[in-house]
Amino acid sequence: MHSATTGQDGLSAITFFKGLSEDYGRAMAQLQGKGMLLDAVLQLACDSFDTNVSAQTAKLPALDCHKGCATCCTLRVTATAPEVLMVARFIRALDPALQARGIDLPGQVARADQLTHGLAETARVAARQRCPFIAQGVCVIYQVRPLACRGLASYDKRACAQAAAGQIDAIPYSEPHMQVRSLVQNAMQSAMRDAGLAWGNYELNQALTMALNEPSLEARWLAGEDVFAAAQVSEVDPADMASTFDAIKQAAY
Ligand code: SF4
Repeated sequence: MHSATTGQDGLSAITFFKGLSEDYGRAMAQLQGKGMLLDAVLQLACDSFDTNVSAQTAKLPALDCHKGCATCCTLRVTATAPEVLMVARFIRALDPALQARGIDLPGQVARADQLTHGLAETARVAARQRCPFIAQGVCVIYQVRPLACRGLASYDKRACAQAAAGQIDAIPYSEPHMQVRSLVQNAMQSAMRDAGLAWGNYELNQALTMALNEPSLEARWLAGEDVFAAAQVSEVDPADMASTFDAIKQAAY
C-alpha cells in the first residue's frame, strides 16, 4: 500500500495522487482481466482513505455522525465501476438470505432507480428519496459502500437535518474526508484510464440496476467496455478530468 499521506498542501496532494495512481496501476497490470482486480483496487482505495483520513483528522474535533443516522442518505450517490460491481457482488451474495426474510434488495434498487432516474443533483436533493440500502437507519451495504458515502462526514447532525428539510444550505462537512475521497477516487480513475478500463463516475441506483440485471457486465468491464455509460453523471467533463490527470502525471514532483 502506498504509505504517503496527502497532507494539506497541493504539493503533497499531487505526490500522493501520483504514488497512489502508480500503486493502482501495478495492481491492475498484475490482475488484468481477472475478477480479483476489483478486490485489489478497492482494498487499496479503502486502506488509503482510512489511513489518510485518520492522519488528517487526529487533532480535529469529533464528528457528529453516528450509527442509525441516515440523514445524508437522500443525496445522490455516484460511484466508479469497481465500486458498483462490488456492491452488486455483495447484494447477490446477501440476496438468498434476504429473500428468505421477504426482503427484495434488487427490487428495492430497481424501484429507487425508477424514482431517481436521470435526476440532476439539485432535483435529486429536492426529491428527498432515501437510498434503497437504508434499513432501520443503518446502511445494509456498509462494508462496501462507495467512496462518495465515506467522504461525507459532518460536524453537526442538526445542520444535516435542517439542510435535509430545506431550511439551510450549508453543512459543516469534514474537509479532510472530502479531500481524501476525491484524491483516492481520482487517482483510481486515472489508473483505470491508463489501463484501458472505463473510468467514469456513475449514478449508483441506475448503474447498480444495470449490474444486477446483467451479471456479464463485470467481465465486460474488465475487458474494457464502458458498460455503465448510460448512468454516467455529466456535471464534470471527462475531457477536463483527463487533462488534469495528465498534467498531474507530468508534474515534476
Ligand atoms: S450506500 Fe449506505 S451510506 Fe451510502 S447513501 Fe446509501 S445507505 Fe447511505
